[in-house]
Amino acid sequence: MKCYRCGGAVDKIVTDLPFKTKSNSTVIICNLPVLQCSSCREYEIEDEAMKYVDAKLFSIDSSAEVEIVRYAV
Ligand SMILES: [Zn+2]
Repeated sequence: MKCYRCGGAVDKIVTDLPFKTKSNSTVIICNLPVLQCSSCREYEIEDEAMKYVDAKLFSIDSSAEVEIVRYAV
């Protein structure tokens, strides 16, 4: 697997990433697996994780400004 931006090697890491929901609150997903480029630091979310994120953002109906969710498969 190569970086789509610079062609460098990507590493699989877990990180915490913030996402916006449609109601404009922020959901921070912890322990999210992403592929990060070791040279330019660009990251890419894999399909499986992205599906999880989409489903999560869709299902969260919170009035809280920030919601923290732990990634679990
Ligand atoms: Zn790169």
